Amino acid sequence: MIHKIGRNDPCWCGSMKKYKNCHEAFDERISILASQGKIVPGHELIKTPAQIEGIKESAKINIAVLDEVADKIRPGMSTGDIDRIVYETTTKMGGIPAPLNYEGFPKSVCTSINEEVCHGIPADDIFLKDGDIINVDCSTIYKGYFSDSSRMFLIGDVSEEKKKLVRVVKECVELGLEQVKPWGYLGDMSEAVFTHARENGYTVVRNIGGHGVGLEFHEEPWVGYIYRRGTQMVMAPGLMFTIEPMVNMGASKVTTDKENGWTVRTADGKPSAQWEIQVLVTEEGHEVISY
Ligand SMILES: [Zn+2]
Repeated sequence: MIHKIGRNDPCWCGSMKKYKNCHEAFDERISILASQGKIVPGHELIKTPAQIEGIKESAKINIAVLDEVADKIRPGMSTGDIDRIVYETTTKMGGIPAPLNYEGFPKSVCTSINEEVCHGIPADDIFLKDGDIINVDCSTIYKGYFSDSSRMFLIGDVSEEKKKLVRVVKECVELGLEQVKPWGYLGDMSEAVFTHARENGYTVVRNIGGHGVGLEFHEEPWVGYIYRRGTQMVMAPGLMFTIEPMVNMGASKVTTDKENGWTVRTADGKPSAQWEIQVLVTEEGHEVISY
């Protein structure tokens, strides 16, 4: 039996407002878009005000952890040292590192150096060398809410070629973010990311991408960066996801480490870079939740 919410009932979003004054128009818009064959989010992907507050508390920790890494990272340090900084800072603030034991991942953070695209596993015998570029990808659970973001760091004296890659990928994320507007499409963001990477002679990793986040580590929708404007999921207000393109200096093909089952590397051994932000679609535009 289908129970239809009454117009004077409290809205499903938990705002305590009457449905007719809250998400009724939203639901009408969604059902029109769905009838036109567009991919629309279900209510379970639309974050309520209380959930948004909780996720922001989680993100405060995630941002503080990356700030701490930014402060301490230097040549000669091991990625195991970075893992300890992440674990200690997160737990001191009452959080749990989301990667730890996630599907068997053994550490608290992903550290991916140079040709490593993502999911690098920290170790006490992997040392940061002058000229390396590294992605540090942090995710936090706090009171059941999830936050997720990553940054690139330049270690010592980095070549102009690698510096440019790191800068351009940051620009890709910023240009993608500009496209995050209510009732747009994830493809609008994706095309902006892809175009900027390609214009700089780079390729975008196709089969690994971003995701919804907040109540789970990885939620719907899948967020790729190879799609056209006007395609993929409708960015309804309340949708939350990551923008995290992996951009390669050489070919887009990647391979997964057969020994550890995690670390993804470029197939041609050329460098790769990634920045990640966690974004909320709002009525007015967007809000960056974690960076
Ligand atoms: Zn509502």
